[in-house]
Amino acid sequence: MSATPRTVLITGTSSGIGLAVAIAAAQAGWRTVATLRDLTRADALRKAAAEAGVELDIRQLDVTDEASVTAAVDGVIADYGRLDAVVNNAGAGHLGTLENDTVADVRKVMEVNFFGVLHVSKAALPHLRTTGGRLITVTSVGGVIGQPFNEAYCAAKFAVEGYMESLAPVAQTLGVSVSVVEPGAVATEFVNNVGFDLEADIAAGPYSDALRHYIDRTVEQFLDGSAQTPAGAAEAVMGALDADRPAFRIQTSEWARTFVGTKLADVDGSAVQGLTAAWVG
Ligand code: NAP
Repeated sequence: MSATPRTVLITGTSSGIGLAVAIAAAQAGWRTVATLRDLTRADALRKAAAEAGVELDIRQLDVTDEASVTAAVDGVIADYGRLDAVVNNAGAGHLGTLENDTVADVRKVMEVNFFGVLHVSKAALPHLRTTGGRLITVTSVGGVIGQPFNEAYCAAKFAVEGYMESLAPVAQTLGVSVSVVEPGAVATEFVNNVGFDLEADIAAGPYSDALRHYIDRTVEQFLDGSAQTPAGAAEAVMGALDADRPAFRIQTSEWARTFVGTKLADVDGSAVQGLTAAWVG
C-alpha cells in the first residue's frame, strides 16, 4: 500500500450494497469512509467490519442535506488531504403510480435518488479532479428500463443516468472517470424499505389487478433465489473502482446485462413494452 492510501467515500452504508462495498473496498486496501445518514444505524456495518477484520472510517452524511454532505467531504479532505473516489450508493425505492402518487411523493423520490447524488457529486468533483479520481453511481436496471409501478423511482434513476452520461465526457477531459452501476434484483432491505401498503388505496382502486400481478412477479423474483447477493453487486462496484479504464455503464449480473441490452437495442420501444406489459396482466 502507498504511504497515502487512496480514499473512497461511500454513501448509504447502513445495509445492503453500500455495506458490502464498504467492506470490499477496505479489504482491497482503500481507506474507506463509510457514510450513513443516521449513525445509530451503524451496528451491522461495524459488525461486518469486525468480522472481516477491516477498519472503516464511519461518518454521518444524509444525501438530502447539503450541509451534511459538505461537512462530510470537507472533513475527509481536512483529515486525509485527498479523495480518490466516490460511490453514490444511497437510494430508496418507491412503489406507486400517477393517480395515487402526489407530486410531493415524486419530489421526495427525486430528492434522495437524484438530487442526493448531485449534492455529493458536486461537493466531491473538485477533489476528484485533483486525484484523477472516480465518480461511481449505483443506479439500477430501472435507470434504463421503465418498470410498472416504479414511475417515480425509474424517473429518478433515468435522471441520474442522463446526468452522468452527459457529465462523463466533460469530467474525462480533466481526468475524472464517471460510471453508473446497474443492479437487477439484489437481496437487501430495499424492498422492505419501500414501505408500501398493499391494502392501501391503490390496491383497492382501478389498478388493483395490475398491481397484484406486479407484486406476485416481484415477490417471486426475490424469493426464487434469482436475486443477487449484496456482495455480488459490490463486486461490480469494485470493478469500477479498480479497473484501469472502467466502462461508463456496468451491470452487476448477467441477468442485468441481458435486460439492459434489450432496451439499448430497442429503438422503437416495442421490445421493452412487450416485456413489461406481461408483468401487469
Ligand atoms: P438498502 O439496503 O435499503 O440500502 C439503501 C441505503 O441507502 C441505506 O443505507 C439507507 O440508509 C440509505 N439511504 C436512504 N436514504 C438516504 C439518505 N437520504 N441519505 C443517506 N443514505 C440514505 O438497499 P440497497 O439495495 O442496498 O440499495 C443501494 C442502492 O442500490 C440504491 O441506490 C438502490 O436504488 C440501488 N438498487 C437496489 C436494487 C435492489 O434490488 N436491492 C436494485 C437496483 C438498484 P437508512 O438505513 O438510513 O435507510
